[in-house]
Amino acid sequence: MPGRWAGRRVLITSGPTREPLDPVRYLSNPSSGRMGFALAAEARRRGARVTVVSGPTALRSPAGVRVLPVTTGLEMYRRTLALSGSADVVIAAAAVSDWRFARTSRHKIKRTARALRLTLTPNPDIILEVGRRRRRGSAQVLVGFALETRGRLRAAREKMRRKRLDIIVANDPSSLAGPSSRAAILTRGGGARLLPALAKRRLAGEVLGAVEALWRKRSS
Ligand code: C5P
Repeated sequence: MPGRWAGRRVLITSGPTREPLDPVRYLSNPSSGRMGFALAAEARRRGARVTVVSGPTALRSPAGVRVLPVTTGLEMYRRTLALSGSADVVIAAAAVSDWRFARTSRHKIKRTARALRLTLTPNPDIILEVGRRRRRGSAQVLVGFALETRGRLRAAREKMRRKRLDIIVANDPSSLAGPSSRAAILTRGGGARLLPALAKRRLAGEVLGAVEALWRKRSS
């Protein structure tokens, strides 16, 4: 149903964030950005107008997609919130660092024999804030991801409720950096689709298919 995507604005957060400790050190994670870019390429292929707010990645940007590079979680938060109001679909595929350093040193911290105590401050939850700002009765669709090591489906469903998402993709941590992903797609008020290990490009197609199913349900 390619027509459903034509002209729709799709906003995607993608990749890891980097939280600097000093000019040469940072806190991050192994996210590659593959899932976000696969979603972007697939949405574009279906005719959507796609913007990706992307943390640092070694991947080439998908053709025909606007990619806005950011580094930190706070930058990703600001960029995403500035654009989310006009998006029809927001997909949070980024592995945002849950914390940042309370202080970033302007100079390289020198090695000492003593323990170094560091304080971490929570980063804002981007997709939670997008959901909070969604107007009552808004048709905007919110899709999130959940990386769980235990009780995957239950935890994902709880996260979907708390973050007011319409769809959540529960995958296991081995998906983070690799080319494929074993996932389940859960929809609010609906069931869970358990999928076998799929290339991220194929999983992207399944996720967009779940958005289409939601549109169909709403219009029927
Ligand atoms: O709570 P948790 O980090 O497991 O939630 C994962 C989902 O929330 C993903 O969709 C992720 O992109 C999004 N998220 C976010 N901002 C954060 C943390 C997570 O948008 N600071």
